[in-house]
Amino acid sequence: MKVCRTVKNIRREVQILKSGNRKIGFVPTMGALHEGHIALIRQARSAADAVVVSIFVNPEQFGPNEDFDSYPRTLKQDLEVCKREGVDLVFTPDREEMYSGTAFLKIRIDQLNRHMCGGSRPGFFEGIVLVVNKFFNIIKPDAAVFGQKDIQQFQILKQMVREFNHNIELVMAPIVRASDGLALSSRNAYLNDVQRKKAPALYRSLQSIEREIEKAGRSLAPGDLIRKEGRRLEAKGLKIDYLDVFSLQTLQPEKMLEKGGRYILAGAVWLGKTRLIDNILIE
Ligand code: AMP
Repeated sequence: MKVCRTVKNIRREVQILKSGNRKIGFVPTMGALHEGHIALIRQARSAADAVVVSIFVNPEQFGPNEDFDSYPRTLKQDLEVCKREGVDLVFTPDREEMYSGTAFLKIRIDQLNRHMCGGSRPGFFEGIVLVVNKFFNIIKPDAAVFGQKDIQQFQILKQMVREFNHNIELVMAPIVRASDGLALSSRNAYLNDVQRKKAPALYRSLQSIEREIEKAGRSLAPGDLIRKEGRRLEAKGLKIDYLDVFSLQTLQPEKMLEKGGRYILAGAVWLGKTRLIDNILIE
């Protein structure tokens, strides 16, 4: 496994892989790798012949009062995980390598970032589109794998691929969970024992709303169901950022669910200073 810190080096190494006619699968991460990331790496391996992983805590996707400085950084262990998983190349640029020089161009997203995480985190998806676009141009993979955990990110990146004509297949991997249902996340490391015990409540509430929707088996307005679960979560001490059903295509909230429609049932909650997200696809 080769570890590259510069654009020049990763381009050269990717070129060598490609000259052997190998298909490149790419997994972008911010490090602090867990089983969720490992599942993406394995999926990339099954979609391609060689796997490139990037590890970069992208300053452009953090707001001024967010956790950029405290975000977990565990590069040594991350490299061991990648090696164990048979990753071919790891790209670990520093901030200077990715963003040196004055920027004259800005990404602006319309509509798709108005709600869900985009509604609560101004500039978040602009920062993601910027960095993933740069990675795609540097690595030029054949396929890239992202998690359903960040489904709004996946939908926005799919749109980016379309509008910017990247010749890259995007693959969405299912959410990997702890045995109590909590979606794995690098940020779970911030939770103390009491918070960690409360954290799976978000997924349980999503499951309970999903069951009621399935049970109805017809068009329905989910507002009351959502408000009821919202109150339950707040009573447990989870502070709701958002909890709603959104159209899978437009990412706008849906007041009425039609039979046969495709939706995202999604929530974000605060447990102390930690923000957790989760979602279930309703199809
Ligand atoms: P991050 O390092 O948190 O930026 O995540 C890198 C990639 O891993 C993104 O595509 C995430 O959606 C994905 N990911 C994070 N957590 C999980 C999880 N629990 N299950 C599946 N994919 C995940």
